[in-house]
Amino acid sequence: MSFGGTNLDQGHAYNRRLVLEAIRVHGALSRAELTRLTGLAPQTISNISAALTEVGLVVAERRSGNGRGQPPADLRLNPKGGYAFGVSIDNRRIFTVLVDIAGNLLDELEDRLYDTSPESVLPRIASSITTLRKQTPLPVDRILGAGIAMTGLTTHGNFVGLAFDDFTSHWYGFPFERQLEPMLGIPIFTDNDARAAAIGEAFYGKGRKFRDFVYIYFGVGIGGSIINSGQPFRGSRGRASEFGHMIVEAGGRLCSCGNRGCLEQYTSMVSALRAIEHRADNANTQEALLRAFDDGDPRILHWIDSAAIHLTTAIINLENIFDPETILLGGIIPEPLLDAIMARIEPLPRSVASRREDGASRIVKSSIGPAIPALGAASLALFDATSASFSLLFKKNVVSSVPAAIDRFQPASVARP
Ligand SMILES: [Zn+2]
Repeated sequence: MSFGGTNLDQGHAYNRRLVLEAIRVHGALSRAELTRLTGLAPQTISNISAALTEVGLVVAERRSGNGRGQPPADLRLNPKGGYAFGVSIDNRRIFTVLVDIAGNLLDELEDRLYDTSPESVLPRIASSITTLRKQTPLPVDRILGAGIAMTGLTTHGNFVGLAFDDFTSHWYGFPFERQLEPMLGIPIFTDNDARAAAIGEAFYGKGRKFRDFVYIYFGVGIGGSIINSGQPFRGSRGRASEFGHMIVEAGGRLCSCGNRGCLEQYTSMVSALRAIEHRADNANTQEALLRAFDDGDPRILHWIDSAAIHLTTAIINLENIFDPETILLGGIIPEPLLDAIMARIEPLPRSVASRREDGASRIVKSSIGPAIPALGAASLALFDATSASFSLLFKKNVVSSVPAAIDRFQPASVARP
């Protein structure tokens, strides 16, 4: 089965990325396996393998033999071949990770945020990356860049959030990449936090098992992404998947976008904080929600019921429109609250997903905490260098050897009181 390699000269860069991506996803591949997977000519694979080995992105290792003849050499990503930083920003913290090209999480740093204006945030990002660079000295020519994930950002580095609120009002029209690149001296890549988290899930989390999924991100508001044939759907202007502004109650609560009845007026962290009369721009928002939940505060229990009803409407709409393999639910919401909502939305009403031949769950809980959008952000930098096609990620019957960095992450910042 071919994955779209081309043997034409102008396809060289594309083919190099395709080969790198195949190796990244499969962990280790022989030249013969690469030829079969990519559809490229054996000589092309041989030339690309030699070039990638020479620049240090790939290493060749001899497979252990069975005593009969010379075993084939496996090509693997060289973890020392490239590094990237990933930064996730929400209304209370900057979370920064350092990963290598093989997907290993090397270091992480959390910095509390009390002022979310660009004047305050940009130097803090620079400081976090500088700290990680000091802790893990890296060759400058091996740093591929930094990915930044924040609500409202686009892939073009500008801020275009749909709703005005305390957090986003500072950022409208702010040229993120243009301002940050000279400060750091490395390439900057941007995307919104929800889509970065979906990419993080696709590479490192529960999404590794799926080719078509919808990801709902519980951030301060609600966002998400549609991963279609392995690729995040961005829309014509990079603004797709604003699930939080899906109208789930006609004539309902007034939203910051100006419409009424948007999902995030019922189901987001902001709506939960409003329910318990806690200021969203205050620190310790997660702790306040957890305390209310543990105390059995009737306001938070009522919020959970309402959140579940409106989320169910959104899920049925998404299933009927996109027919995904599953819907992943994750984000920075405290996990017990997400568990409580998920418990209330099942069994789900009927949709195109009701009768499933594959028996897959319609909803799956994914990663909680700031690591996944940060890892997804780092992927933006890593895979600009390596990724020809996300579709290789989802080649069936292959166990990816990319380490699940997220599995090792303990979200200390969401510690229970
Ligand atoms: Zn809205």
